[in-house]
Amino acid sequence: MPRYEYRCRTCGDTFELSRPMAQSAAPAACPAGHDDTVKLLSTVAVGGVSNATAPAPRGGGAGGGCCGGGCCG
Ligand SMILES: [Zn+2]
Repeated sequence: MPRYEYRCRTCGDTFELSRPMAQSAAPAACPAGHDDTVKLLSTVAVGGVSNATAPAPRGGGAGGGCCGGGCCG
């Protein structure tokens, strides 16, 4: 469930809530119970592992497949 950050304009506190996206725009009361809150930029971090650090096996594969099937003679 995505997390959304809100700021209370009454006490100035910021807080996060985990709620469905459908309710992201719904009013959110701060932990102190104030209703005058504004939604801040979402700090959603859902999965997303970059593949930049995964070296692609290339040549001389350990998985076999070529020299075992006859394509290499
Ligand atoms: Zn408040």
